[in-house]
Amino acid sequence: MNKPIYLDYNATTPVDKEVLKAMIPWFTEKFGNSASRSHIFGWEAEEAVELSKKQISELIDCEPSEIYFTSGATESINLAIKGVIENKENRIEKIITSTVEHKATLDVCQYLSKSISIEHLPTDSFGNIQLESFTNFPPSNFLVSLIFANNETGNLLNNKLLNTLTYRKSIIKHTDATQAIGKIPFNFKESNFDLMSFSGHKIYGPKGIGSLIIKKGTKISTQIHGGNHQKGVRSGTLNIPGIVGLGKACEIANNNLENYIEKVGKLRTMLENELLQLPDVAINGNINNRLPNTTNLAFGGLDGERLLENLTKVAVSSGSACTSANVEPSHVLLAMGIPISLAYSSIRFSLGKDTTEKEIDIAVNQIKDVVKRLRN
Ligand code: PLP
Repeated sequence: MNKPIYLDYNATTPVDKEVLKAMIPWFTEKFGNSASRSHIFGWEAEEAVELSKKQISELIDCEPSEIYFTSGATESINLAIKGVIENKENRIEKIITSTVEHKATLDVCQYLSKSISIEHLPTDSFGNIQLESFTNFPPSNFLVSLIFANNETGNLLNNKLLNTLTYRKSIIKHTDATQAIGKIPFNFKESNFDLMSFSGHKIYGPKGIGSLIIKKGTKISTQIHGGNHQKGVRSGTLNIPGIVGLGKACEIANNNLENYIEKVGKLRTMLENELLQLPDVAINGNINNRLPNTTNLAFGGLDGERLLENLTKVAVSSGSACTSANVEPSHVLLAMGIPISLAYSSIRFSLGKDTTEKEIDIAVNQIKDVVKRLRN
């Protein structure tokens, strides 16, 4: 069976061949435990972890010592939010997040809402998180957790404004940058965040590995106890092949970032220009401030399920891949005030570094055919 054209790179990416090559020895001949201090097997694993930290720190500009490995962004987000709240020294009184976060953040906040007050900042109709309410908050102890690049619309956080509005307030800031890392420049030091979560499998690294960056001095309580690995912040034997893969993926992303942005940007423009020729098609999101590889299109007057069923030649997503087990419309689009029927008939296209013009052509032709057919 011919597989459809994959335009769902925000859901996951294939492992880059160079990443796989770097990982392979760490499954077999180099199988040491980085916590083994008394022999070469442990030492070389420890060196591999240090190299990975160097590669990651070069992509996102943080200190290698600020990098903690986890099983992925979901775990990083849990560790960041629960860890900050649980640490009594932080005396956090409230969590401020938004309505357009990934479920990982929303569900953690929902869980914590039994014991702490949570405020969800709304968005405008373009999906811009309404940060202005920060001016109304007294300068007391908050944890802010906001998504840096939205997985469904590609919208980017206005971090400059966030920094202005939160200046001199006693706030700990976490960002879920899972979709931003490797797609746009991200500088941890300059961003002013205390914590940042991201994941390997969105950037051509393996699944099951991610990281939480914790700015030096940020107080966080352990969520996974045992063994005292990673300075006791996150225990458990380190996933060396995954860590090697994540580091290599970051190195490759760093070397190719400019080309990537230019390439996927051009192809997305091609895709949008073609599909916007159809009547009643609109872009969901802020076209002036979004990821270069993502577009979310609303196909008015169509049944979303029938649309997806008929798109046999393209693998795309309606809403978030992480929630695609539920046939519910995207909570992000609903939070933007998009009517439920239009949210159902909206599709997220996310392009990758290997997407080609030919693939876009094939996708566009089929989408145009299907839309015309279903509308008749
Ligand atoms: N945050 C965002 C913005 C995401 O897109 C995803 C995955 O889709 C996650 C968090 C969860 O990442 P992981 O699959 O690594 O747990």
